[in-house]
Amino acid sequence: MTKAGKTRDRLIYLPLGGAGEIGMNAYVYGYGPEGEERLILVDIGVTFPDMDTSPGVDLIMPDVSWLAKRADRLEAIVITHAHEDHVGALGHLWSRLKAPVYARPFTAAIAATKMEEAGQPAEVIRVVGPRPAVVEAGPFKLQFLPVSHSIPESAALIIDTPAGRVLHTGDFKLDGSPVVGERFDASEWHRVAREGNGIKAMICDSTNVFSPQPGRSEATLAAPLAALIASKEGMVVATTFASNVARLKTLAEAGQAAGRSICLLGRAMRKMVTAAVETGVLTDFPKVISPEDAADVSRGNLMLIVTGSQGERRAASAQLSRGKYLGLEMKEGDTFLFSSKTIPGNERGVIRVMNAYSEMGVEIVDDRDGLYHVSGHANRPDLEAVHELMKPAMLIPMHGEHRHLREHVRIATEKGIAAEIATNGTMLDLSGDAPEVVEYIEAGRTYLDGTVLIGALDGVVRERIRMALNGHVLATVILDEEEAPLGDAWVEIMGLPEKGRSGKDLAEAMEAELGEFLENASDRVLGDDDKMDDSIRRIVRQVAVEEIGKKPEVTVVVSRLFVE
Ligand SMILES: [Zn+2]
Repeated sequence: MTKAGKTRDRLIYLPLGGAGEIGMNAYVYGYGPEGEERLILVDIGVTFPDMDTSPGVDLIMPDVSWLAKRADRLEAIVITHAHEDHVGALGHLWSRLKAPVYARPFTAAIAATKMEEAGQPAEVIRVVGPRPAVVEAGPFKLQFLPVSHSIPESAALIIDTPAGRVLHTGDFKLDGSPVVGERFDASEWHRVAREGNGIKAMICDSTNVFSPQPGRSEATLAAPLAALIASKEGMVVATTFASNVARLKTLAEAGQAAGRSICLLGRAMRKMVTAAVETGVLTDFPKVISPEDAADVSRGNLMLIVTGSQGERRAASAQLSRGKYLGLEMKEGDTFLFSSKTIPGNERGVIRVMNAYSEMGVEIVDDRDGLYHVSGHANRPDLEAVHELMKPAMLIPMHGEHRHLREHVRIATEKGIAAEIATNGTMLDLSGDAPEVVEYIEAGRTYLDGTVLIGALDGVVRERIRMALNGHVLATVILDEEEAPLGDAWVEIMGLPEKGRSGKDLAEAMEAELGEFLENASDRVLGDDDKMDDSIRRIVRQVAVEEIGKKPEVTVVVSRLFVE
């Protein structure tokens, strides 16, 4: 390969989401001459909005504008596993990318629901088996390398290019007995590292880089969960991530062993279990009963497994915390178990649910002692073991906030692996011996707001936040054919106190000031829309500041009656 001219083929990596944050994963790889690289996209996920920064927004996803402009060069979209932060945006963004989608059977089943829900053609999804099955996508040869995680059929992606082999780990943990799905097979991973010239670059999960203990296996949960559930007299309700099919099985089996009938509550959970059974990744799940039948079972013989481990308002756990749900109700003496961890940012929702149960006299058990939940991500010693096993020439950390990426780079560099922090929008050239930053592109966020996709910087949400924080005033003035005020100014307030400091009605106080202004305004001002707008806004704000100490958002409407 020569370095001269722009005809040199290069191998590039460009995260559009998931690097510098945990969520909305989207990673682009490209190979070819600069500016003409053939491209693939690995994962296309969502992240969830919050009241502080994105109130009213339904979903957050990566801004794929860069890729959409180059959609004619996009050979494939590959989904590593079926978590929302890896597949959740597929239906919403596919129409801008229009490339074939590749996934393993269970992941493909979930991806198909994403496409159908968004009215997109699910036929573009192609089901692929694990390695040695190969997908040829332009200059890339792709293979799914099974790995354990917290959802069935997770896979790392082997990306073979003319410039060498890249291993995109996806999300993973080193679990030798994951209960459902494939175990981590170190010898197979080692084989992958020894083939050809080995691993040129490993793009690696960084989520748990700060966890100092080796990760624990899903199988270690069976005994403590069985002992806990057997020790309880009332109804036991457990929650976990709907997609953690292995955990659902562990929980259900523990309940069954304690002589309890099992009932699953929550649409997302039933959807996951159905997909897992239909694609054959889940076998011998304990028999489940419907909510109607569950209502007839005595409390000591019943266990519910419910959605809503993150305190989501509409999920089953929150519904039950507010009272009767589908004929079922929590009572004093029952137990609620969080077999999950609270994702940072979701604490308030979870605590709200916990307090509601506390008021009912329900005992709450969470993962404080580390007995009832294990993480789906590799901890620091596991990451180091994988570095050792795979011996990549370069390591690029992904799936982490900036501090995670930095720490992961530090660990790799200490071992002599060339490593680089590449946050969203940072394009790396991986062709040489060390990663090289070659370009920064705009990589923002796209919001699903109701049914419309908007840019995070379009100003819509900024305006919404301003209205929420400051309240809103509508001031209307009508001018007749001679540009003289017709009647009084009319003010309506929203989200503001009715009475101010003086005890006067706030809207009336504004109307009075506006009345005075209209009486004294010159024809020059009355005839000029901009001047009217400015003056009315200023007066409304001035009254608001005096009366309530706030500067509200103001909408001014000046209607002019014209003669034909
Ligand atoms: Zn995941």
